[in-house]
Amino acid sequence: MTRRSASRPETGFANDRGANILAARGDFPVLDQVVGGKPLVYLDNAATTQKPRQVIERLCQYYERDNANVHRGVHELSERATWQYEQARELVRDFINAAEHEEVIFVRGTTEAINLVAQSYLRPRLVAGDEILITEMEHHSNIVPWQLVAAQTGAKLRVVPITDEGELVIDAFANMMSERTRLVAVSHVSNTLGTVNPVAEIVRICHHYGVPVLVDGAQAVGHMPVDMRAIGCDFYAFSGHKMYAPTGIGVLYGRRAILNGMPPWQGGGEMIRKVSFEHTDYADLPSRFEAGTPDIAGAIGLGAAIDYINGLGRENIAAREQELLALATEALQGQPGLEIIGRAPHKGAILSFVLQGVHPHDISTILDREGVAVRAGHHCTMPLMERLGIPGTTRASFAFYNRDEDVAALLRGLHEVREFFK
Ligand code: PMP
Repeated sequence: MTRRSASRPETGFANDRGANILAARGDFPVLDQVVGGKPLVYLDNAATTQKPRQVIERLCQYYERDNANVHRGVHELSERATWQYEQARELVRDFINAAEHEEVIFVRGTTEAINLVAQSYLRPRLVAGDEILITEMEHHSNIVPWQLVAAQTGAKLRVVPITDEGELVIDAFANMMSERTRLVAVSHVSNTLGTVNPVAEIVRICHHYGVPVLVDGAQAVGHMPVDMRAIGCDFYAFSGHKMYAPTGIGVLYGRRAILNGMPPWQGGGEMIRKVSFEHTDYADLPSRFEAGTPDIAGAIGLGAAIDYINGLGRENIAAREQELLALATEALQGQPGLEIIGRAPHKGAILSFVLQGVHPHDISTILDREGVAVRAGHHCTMPLMERLGIPGTTRASFAFYNRDEDVAALLRGLHEVREFFK
């Protein structure tokens, strides 16, 4: 860890746009407020990020000028809405470097994307005794959908272990692979530990055994460059709301050849070519997996968030978030009785910790009185908590718009916690 000097200018930015990143905090109206008499310090970005004015205005513009249903009308507004919705898909394709825009399926979020794969891809392929490989650090969204499909088919879950530092035991992917393994599901970045997993390497190992891989990218995609063709995964799931876009919109990326072979998940309008009472022909990709009226405004908002992120540069966002992580890690690791949970060398800007003798909920309640918003509890990773032998953690998670003073406010809040429990 390097200590940052008190004075800027910065060094870590990859290009000139980096200079804008410190000013970009001003784009987020919600950050400029007082809660409970204290200026808001928002450190719950892993739960959801705030939205820049550019995204909010884009949503208003759409509803004020262009609102109509997509792919249906031939009238002007419908054409505008359709064009913008499909333009958003192209923005996503480019953002994640997917080969084709048909590989981008709009869904509600990471959770829905994983359930879609579990039910449409995996369920028809599973028989009793087959295996699904996940890891000890997965979010409930990347556990429960597989348990559901396992219960429906008689398949079993197997779980790749982690080290005490919070890293995956990579050799286990090969060692736990069997001729019954039908899918591997792994997070790109752990929402509790912050660990960045070597997903391209994991995909290489799994593909060597002919096993497809789903990557849960919920905590990765707004924070670092993410490239489908470099990772090589078969499926990648993420949520707009964790990358400065609205809630209710997310993406399932799937390789075209695989998506093409999957039956629809939900039936309804939009996903059909021809319907009679006897028979239905389904639409091509991506409509086949987008039954019903989609979250049109959400998709357009996601496109606006991508424009916004591209304007700042993901490499610059990553560099600034790494600075904040280094600063906070250094500040916290010297605190008496405090243990950082998740000490992998390669982490996203997520800092979980426990404080001896104080429950995480009490910490977050006292921090809230100081205006500091953090998350406390199991973070939807109960099996990981069990593996670590702790009931929960307090988690500070950063976005590029956090300031160095936010880390100082966290420290002051922790001082208040100590005083309270003295
Ligand atoms: N996976 C991970 C790693 C997450 O952090 C989250 C959100 N906390 C999810 C999946 C689920 O995302 P969503 O609730 O947006 O579907």
